[in-house]
Amino acid sequence: QGDADEGIDYIFKIVMIGDSGVGKSQLLNRFVKNEFHMKSKPTIGVEFLTRTVVMDHKLVKAQIWDTAGQESRPVDASGKSWPFNSSKGLAVDVFLLGCIVSAVALCCNRIGYQAITTAYYRGATGALLAYDITNQQSFDHVEKWLDELRIHADKNILVMLVGNKSDLNSVRAVPIEAARDFARQEGLFFVETSALDSTNVESAFLGLLSQVYGTVS
Ligand code: GDP
Ligand code: MG
Repeated sequence: QGDADEGIDYIFKIVMIGDSGVGKSQLLNRFVKNEFHMKSKPTIGVEFLTRTVVMDHKLVKAQIWDTAGQESRPVDASGKSWPFNSSKGLAVDVFLLGCIVSAVALCCNRIGYQAITTAYYRGATGALLAYDITNQQSFDHVEKWLDELRIHADKNILVMLVGNKSDLNSVRAVPIEAARDFARQEGLFFVETSALDSTNVESAFLGLLSQVYGTVS
């Protein structure tokens, strides 16, 4: 690890947030590996990828965190993982035992969720908040994600709002002007991207990184 960071002047932690399915993992894939997968697997747990860029003659390592952990609340997760919901003729005591196990699991999930959320946002200097331009709901939820940042992240975190899937312009649901106005109002940087055809992916990440760089250099 020490060797890998040799010569690195800055390490910036960036978090990917936004609704599930908007393309966060593919944006990251495109930026770090220049790859894109149409059949993207849902992100499980938390992972980060890094890419080092030169900025102002300095080596800046971006450590970009991606997760699905904050997308499904523990309450939903426990509902889906209820183990006995389809079995018939279970004895009542087994049912009750199931209830207890579930309640305990739910509590652990809550605690686990809090721990993961806290760790996810800890030390992050930038956030890439993505929505899908063909999905109005994912844009409506942007405010919810900003609330999440206000609760868990550093108050000085810089946010790049990203309208992804710009290649699907023909089935667009969110007008670019609406997003631009919203971003201006909220003090966010904004760009529309396509992880599929690469449009503005570099601008989105590098734009955010250079803003972060500007605050520390
Ligand atoms: P995540 O849940 O936010 O991480 O979303 P994913 O990166 O897993 O992407 C969800 C789906 O959208 C996958 O089928 C991707 O192939 C697709 N997708 C991601 N980015 C784009 C894009 O820019 N254009 C198009 N057309 N599809 C995309
Ligand atoms: Mg993902």
